[in-house]
Amino acid sequence: MSVNQQAHTGPPYGQPQPGYQGYQQPAYGGQPLPGVPQSQYGAYNGPMPGYQQPVPPQGYFPSLGFPSKGSPVSLNSDTSSLAPNFIGSLRAPPTSGAPPPASGASLPSGHLAYSQFGHGDVQNGIPTSAAPMQRPPASQPFLPGSAPTPVSQTSTFQQYGPPPASVQQLSNHMAGMTIGSTTASAPPPAGLGYGPPTSVPPVSGSFSTTGSGLYTPYTASQGPPPTSVSQGLPLAQPPFPGQPISTQRLPTQVPGFAPPPSSTGIGPSSYPPTTGAPRPPTMSGPPLPGQTAAGPPASQPNHVSSPPPPATMAGPHPGPHPGPPMSGLHGPPPPTHPPQPGYQMQQNGSFGQVRGPQPNYGGAYPGTPNYGSQPGPPPPPKRLDPDSIPSPIQVIEDDRSNRGSEPFVTGVRGQVPPLVTTNFVVKDQGNASPRYIRCTSYNIPCTSDMAKQSQVPLAAVIKPLATLPPEETLPYLVDHGESGPVRCNRCKAYMCPFMQFIEGGRRFQCCFCSCVTEVPPHYFQHLDHTGKRVDFYDRPELSLGSYEFLATVDYCKNNKFPSPPAFIFMIDVSYNAVKSGLVRLICEELKSLIDFLPREGNMEESAIRVGFVTYNKVLHFYNVKSSLAQPQMMVVSDVADMFVPLLDGFLVNVNESRTVIASLLDQIPEMFADTRETETVFAPVIQAGLEALKAAECAGKLFIFHTSLPIAEAPGKLKNRDDKKLINTDKEKTLFQPQTSFYNNLAKDCVAQGCCVDLFLFPNQYLDVATLGVVTYQTGGSIYKYAYFQLETDQDRFLNDLRRDVQKEVGFDAVMRVRTSTGIRATDFFGAFYMSNTTDVEMAGLDCDKTITVEFKHDDKLSEDSGALLQCALLYTSCAGQRRLRIHNLSLNCCTQLADLYRNCETDTLINYLAKHAYRGVLGSPVKTVRDALINQCAQILACYRKNCASPSSAGQLILPECMKLLPVYLNCVLKSDVLQPGPEVTTDDRAYIRQLVTSMDVAETNVFFYPRLLPLTKAEVDSDSLPAAIRNSEERLSKSDIYLLENGLNIFVWVGVNVQQSLIQNLFGVSSFSQISNALSTLPVLENSFSKKVRSIVDMLQVQRSRNMKLIIVKQEDKLEMLFKHFLVEDKSLSGGASYVDFLCHMHKEIRQLLS
Ligand SMILES: [Zn+2]
Repeated sequence: MSVNQQAHTGPPYGQPQPGYQGYQQPAYGGQPLPGVPQSQYGAYNGPMPGYQQPVPPQGYFPSLGFPSKGSPVSLNSDTSSLAPNFIGSLRAPPTSGAPPPASGASLPSGHLAYSQFGHGDVQNGIPTSAAPMQRPPASQPFLPGSAPTPVSQTSTFQQYGPPPASVQQLSNHMAGMTIGSTTASAPPPAGLGYGPPTSVPPVSGSFSTTGSGLYTPYTASQGPPPTSVSQGLPLAQPPFPGQPISTQRLPTQVPGFAPPPSSTGIGPSSYPPTTGAPRPPTMSGPPLPGQTAAGPPASQPNHVSSPPPPATMAGPHPGPHPGPPMSGLHGPPPPTHPPQPGYQMQQNGSFGQVRGPQPNYGGAYPGTPNYGSQPGPPPPPKRLDPDSIPSPIQVIEDDRSNRGSEPFVTGVRGQVPPLVTTNFVVKDQGNASPRYIRCTSYNIPCTSDMAKQSQVPLAAVIKPLATLPPEETLPYLVDHGESGPVRCNRCKAYMCPFMQFIEGGRRFQCCFCSCVTEVPPHYFQHLDHTGKRVDFYDRPELSLGSYEFLATVDYCKNNKFPSPPAFIFMIDVSYNAVKSGLVRLICEELKSLIDFLPREGNMEESAIRVGFVTYNKVLHFYNVKSSLAQPQMMVVSDVADMFVPLLDGFLVNVNESRTVIASLLDQIPEMFADTRETETVFAPVIQAGLEALKAAECAGKLFIFHTSLPIAEAPGKLKNRDDKKLINTDKEKTLFQPQTSFYNNLAKDCVAQGCCVDLFLFPNQYLDVATLGVVTYQTGGSIYKYAYFQLETDQDRFLNDLRRDVQKEVGFDAVMRVRTSTGIRATDFFGAFYMSNTTDVEMAGLDCDKTITVEFKHDDKLSEDSGALLQCALLYTSCAGQRRLRIHNLSLNCCTQLADLYRNCETDTLINYLAKHAYRGVLGSPVKTVRDALINQCAQILACYRKNCASPSSAGQLILPECMKLLPVYLNCVLKSDVLQPGPEVTTDDRAYIRQLVTSMDVAETNVFFYPRLLPLTKAEVDSDSLPAAIRNSEERLSKSDIYLLENGLNIFVWVGVNVQQSLIQNLFGVSSFSQISNALSTLPVLENSFSKKVRSIVDMLQVQRSRNMKLIIVKQEDKLEMLFKHFLVEDKSLSGGASYVDFLCHMHKEIRQLLS
């Protein structure tokens, strides 16, 4: 039973993984290349050398007090000409390698904790036997309220236990029973979401009757045909006379297929009886002759276009068949239901998002196709009504209304959280919040065969330092004393709520590897009659899903507590940077920004020290020691062998050196005002920062502001190798690969030192993001790009990004390991990090916005009883220099029925994973291969569902699992994205940039990035705080007389229709006519009227939700910029050849049918 998790016997990263034969994968993350030397430092958590006390650190070289080669100090003399004010050369003081007395370093455990919780305050009343809490219980007692209590768990169980699926199913069943009567009761909140834009064809028309008139015939005449073509989709189910139109959703769960997950806490009532009322005869779903098409019309391989020829329409199915004897459901329909299972595509649109009042979706019940029927002879070929296919807007709205009002309590294993688009509060009762971890599925197949069969990737998207909303509690800091956190002897898992105490509390059995470990005497506590420790609720590590441990010196490099980190600002002062005003802007901003460096808890000032470098072809270091009257510059022109010419005075405390720093920042723009130097170096800049941190023996972050391709003679020099002709060739992948391995090696050195690199790029032409970004990417840094930077229009965006980047929470010198219970293990990782072995994710810096996606594979059988556990442990140095471990635990269910898997998936997370997987794939395979593999995998996922979980029905029907009904639309967005299918206007750098960004995105970010949010501004209620209801991303939803906002996390477009009322234009833009609106605006004018205020507040509200400042672009209808805007209307066909949603759905259907046949 005891499998040691650590002994990973699985394939190394580079190996092809079973599920993804489609294309080969480069080494994980595309990062470390083969041949990379072994680990920088041993796993902190295993029996690996690095952090174990007695063993000398392996990859870390003790930093030398002074750079060994640093002696040639005299180099600096050439500076004087540049900086008249500065004293010439300074000799680097040989003495100081030691970091300045670090104020916060190796803090005694007292005051650092997270703002509200001193790390001692964890317990309320520590049992005497539980020794180690050294902190005064003073500050914030760990209130029972925040810990799970038996009572609350019970309630939790009730509220959340039932997977949404079951509920929905119930409702569907109910609906089926009560056709006609119930529907009117509760108008869907979502309705607003997409009222048809006025000028748009009344899409809704065809559904208007859904409420009570369940039988609305869908006639071709209703609803003007959308432009695209897919008529005659075989998808459709032939209408059956007399059938309730209902339902957009059919329960996924076919009775008999999915036994209620035993562990999830599904109330009996929520499960539809598997057998039951015979289904109404009307339910049958075979296509009517002539109506359904045999195959998806969109047959082109890339399904770009072409409507199926009407000929294909003939349905393979001869006629209606009664449909499988399904069970009905009984019981009164619950008033509201979470969206649920099973979704069948019907040609007649009966399952599109119904807009009208239709809460109960009269009629659908498992397996029954009851769709709006169309009595009589089939109408002429008609295209698939876009309203009849699954709508992201509807799904989002449904989830908001169903799950947004109650807190999400994490006490129950395997609960699927609300969608990322829903606002909800999390209460930690033993599992990590979905803000920290989201999974592709919360119910894992018990066997690897099942997992392979389904092709559903098992992955977790982890954001270890996620920012929490104010109403949620930050992880408590726990101190287990000098001996460090209590851990399993064998697998080294940390104490957590799932550990089982035995033998009266003297030992505990590991929930990950089953090994039994003695409880250290200071940690002993008695058990109650249920076997639970009596201090259960007093200890975060026993009752909560997320918490932190104070790390001991054993967890530190070189067995030494770390110094506080440093920030080094490195500014390109070449001609372009100076001329554009950038240098002056940066210097001005830094003068104030350095007062806002991250602070820990209630510390009065930041412990972070700062340093400054400028560069073009040579580097200039500045001595800003507080005792100096003026800053001093030292130039290093020998960039081939970088060293830091000074130590004392380079990294300083802001408060102490404030005046010298201010003087420096005032002088820099003047010093270089007349520069003629256009060439830059790049790698030496990073090397310089790295050397400075090494010398100071600390971790830190470099903020590099860079403008051009580094062509000056120096290590890491690059050439312009951009070549758009490579697109769609086998060599396209080279555009994403770095042009030299130099940066990979440099990145490795940076990671070893905890030197994180944030890069701000201001290119006017190609500067090879794919190569320049390597170090940023592998050190866990962030990259920002402002192409054609112009002060007037771009400065606010840049400054906002810079401020946020400097101020945000970040952990340094981080190592993350994910442990799993026996049966599965982490096999693959995606994100901005470096790996020197197969288990430890190393990040020089990890900030609150970064996510790491981890994929799991089976290495044994899982059991439904025990489920599966994950424990993510992140060891890092806080901004004050405290070494900590942040632990996140999550328990998942395991299933023996595929239907359970499909009912507990989360499509947004799945897309996050699939996009990252594909974006890594382009490093090693032709883009088309990557796209095809993606389509194939999703088709297999859906085909497996169809084959094993859906009720028998005609092959002409596309049946989607309720939880995955948006998979096709979102997948199409990924396929059409700039990385996988670039339009002509997308540059190579844009693609490399996007590829890197997406790799670290969390689920909410990928969600809006791939399917942007489109809001009708003219529908906004000026008196309310709420956003107008979003509409679907298609041109046909836009009205010429409205103004819309579209955001994707990087850009905000404001689109103005040609017929917008003059008064609205006046109110928003301050001009009197459409033609006078300037599309050069980068912000909306501040005007004193309610519409202007409302729109600006919406823009602000959206900005706050994003980790980057979005670029505002005004687009006038029929203006040339509109092409750019239309690129983001992702349900439409794209200029670059991407399929429309409707066409893609047809294509997917065809793929699925092929797999099934
Ligand atoms: Zn263990």
